[in-house]
Amino acid sequence: MMEKHEAMIRFPMLFAVLLLVSLGSMEAQPVGLQYGWLSVVWGDPDPATGESSTISFLLADSDLRVMELTIGEELLAAAGGLLALDNRYVEITLAPGPPESSLDTLPAAASIRPVAPPPGTEDLPRLLGGVSGSKPWISVMCKFSDIAAEPEDLAYFLDMYDNAAGRLDHYWREVSYDEIDVLGSSADGWFNLPNPHVTYVPTPGSGTDADLGALFNDCTAAADPFVDFSNEDTGGYEGINLMFNEVLDCCAWGGSFFATLDGVTKSWRTTWNPPWAFHQEAVIAHEMGHGFGLPHANNSDGDSDPYDSPWDVMSSATGYAVDDPVYGNLGKHVTTYHKDVLGWVDPAERFEVTENGVFAITLDPLGSATTSTYRMAKIPIGGSGSNYYTVEAREAAGAYEADIPGEGPGDRVVILHEVVTGRSEPAWALDADAPPADYADTEGVMWRPGETFVDAANEISVRVVGLTATGFDVEITLGSSLIFGDGFESGDTTAWSSTVP
Ligand SMILES: [Zn+2]
Repeated sequence: MMEKHEAMIRFPMLFAVLLLVSLGSMEAQPVGLQYGWLSVVWGDPDPATGESSTISFLLADSDLRVMELTIGEELLAAAGGLLALDNRYVEITLAPGPPESSLDTLPAAASIRPVAPPPGTEDLPRLLGGVSGSKPWISVMCKFSDIAAEPEDLAYFLDMYDNAAGRLDHYWREVSYDEIDVLGSSADGWFNLPNPHVTYVPTPGSGTDADLGALFNDCTAAADPFVDFSNEDTGGYEGINLMFNEVLDCCAWGGSFFATLDGVTKSWRTTWNPPWAFHQEAVIAHEMGHGFGLPHANNSDGDSDPYDSPWDVMSSATGYAVDDPVYGNLGKHVTTYHKDVLGWVDPAERFEVTENGVFAITLDPLGSATTSTYRMAKIPIGGSGSNYYTVEAREAAGAYEADIPGEGPGDRVVILHEVVTGRSEPAWALDADAPPADYADTEGVMWRPGETFVDAANEISVRVVGLTATGFDVEITLGSSLIFGDGFESGDTTAWSSTVP
């Protein structure tokens, strides 16, 4: 087994190169310039508390020292959004002034841009784009040195990964249409952390100051004599679900973490979970979703709460979820935008509008294992490649979607999302009601036969024509003369103004 401090000497050559480069151009270097690999980590409070979410940015330097920094919404949007920066090697100009809290915290970023990774590190495994194939995770259970409780036994964590309805291997296969599985996932623990609770979590149950780096390093180090993180030299487990025996700060956390474990240096998909998180499999699915790179979904009420859409496990994870006697609420599907980002929608099953016209298509529900038609439609807003509407069908059926909003078992609805890739929650479920409902379980969000969505400014309409045997007939129109010409029934419409600037 390798020792943890080897991470500190992983790139001695690289460090020398960087030093020479910076000496060679010292006069041109702005003060506070920082380089490193950026990880986005999402913090999710216990759904029962109704508190807001938080996003943490972790920067791993060339020695894989991990520091936290702040990046404002405007900088993020200018850089193309979270997914354009996550797991990229970036150049950051730091704002003047001291770090906000500790030595491990950098001042806020004043500018940020992806740049080429240093020579010799281009192939450092990072988490970019599509996710396919077998993705074994390991759950590592760790106890704070002053807390003896073991909230669940090893079998609980092992069985959570089973390939049976309601368990995670089955779940991820269904959600990804068999693009991924988590076969070979494992669990081990409980292991003893070297320090007491408050060393890692100064304010248990609130705030955002849990030391995610120390929790990762100490928990994996405690497990290291017993766990082969290289997973028999296969490049390592795909991800690590860290399970703790007491609350953390506000939140459970999910994202990634750059580190060297058992000789494998890479960005590890990582989640940090207190007991309330692993007692709801939906929350573990949500955190693993962050591990796969997914941001939050949202509704369109414009508030700061991203947990108010029950149409995506990456929003209201436990709302309208199927209940399991052992693992609590189970995950639902993710919206087509998220499936598309991860490469889980076959291009043949995605209808993309690329020119003006009237297009009659059929859509099958997201939860269907197979389809002979489309799973999603994508309509550009204002000719933009990065802003668009998605159209998808949902059905109250199956192991994970049976309890979605609507009129009960077998009910089918069409759901539309506005996707703006530059914002923190790119996909917002559209709501015909004004103002939009606080929580997107209302009829305004569910588009049914006879209802038409119209974005007049962008010359887009989506008409739900009727039900098919398994899904919906939908008519999509792009081009104002087509929408507002003969035959258009204005009485059916719902006006919508895109939030796109
Ligand atoms: Zn989250």
